[in-house]
Amino acid sequence: MRIELLPSTVSGNRVTKRQHYSCFVIDGKVAVDAGSLANSTSDEHKKSIRSVVLSHAHLDHIAGLPLYIDDLFDSLTCPVEIFATQEVIEVLENDIFNWRVYPKFSELENESGPVMCYRKIEAGVPFKVEDLTFEAIPVNHKVPSVGFVISSSASVIAITGDTAEMNGFWQKINGLERLDALLIECAFPNRMSGLAEVSHHLTPEKLGTELGKLKRADCSIFAINLKPMYREETEREIRALEAVGLQVLEVGYEYSF
Ligand SMILES: [Zn+2]
Repeated sequence: MRIELLPSTVSGNRVTKRQHYSCFVIDGKVAVDAGSLANSTSDEHKKSIRSVVLSHAHLDHIAGLPLYIDDLFDSLTCPVEIFATQEVIEVLENDIFNWRVYPKFSELENESGPVMCYRKIEAGVPFKVEDLTFEAIPVNHKVPSVGFVISSSASVIAITGDTAEMNGFWQKINGLERLDALLIECAFPNRMSGLAEVSHHLTPEKLGTELGKLKRADCSIFAINLKPMYREETEREIRALEAVGLQVLEVGYEYSF
């Protein structure tokens, strides 16, 4: 399985390590979250990504979705499928694709037919996306959110999405037959633990506590979703944890598992 966190932030004319948006592309054709889906996908991605799996409806995870559909509207020969929980679908339909903020693409068609459709997912019920199997696991964020276990024929990874402290997630992860990589959020530096608390995110200190709940040593661990303005500080504090197998996921680099 190949996975890349798309770059999203430019300084001058250079892409930086800072990550304003969350959008992972798996095997070049499945997007997990859609923050930078429109502005950071290659032409090849735009031809092949027809499946978008959403963890939750916060802006940094969905911002690119309306523009992605808009960009491709004319060229789509099949609808872009949006895999999301009922709560997330309701937010998209009521607050984004409502004509006031953006066109209701779920009701629009081009010459080939519908351009966007929803596939409702439920926590604990595996679903297929291309040749991958996903299972959503509830996590602990300010709004209804899920993480995912994603399996291919070759490997298994898990992504938390945005979250604070968890229990059910760890039970699931610890019970998996194999796990090649775990991607876990760490949004704020330790000095911002108050904001992390109210917004349901992790700091490096809390990440250390969470990793204490991981009862397996067979997987690489990557910190993700670091808030861009504090990235260097948060990264230093993550390194200082000296947790075995833990590193910060590089933006714009394709990892293989
Ligand atoms: Zn969020």
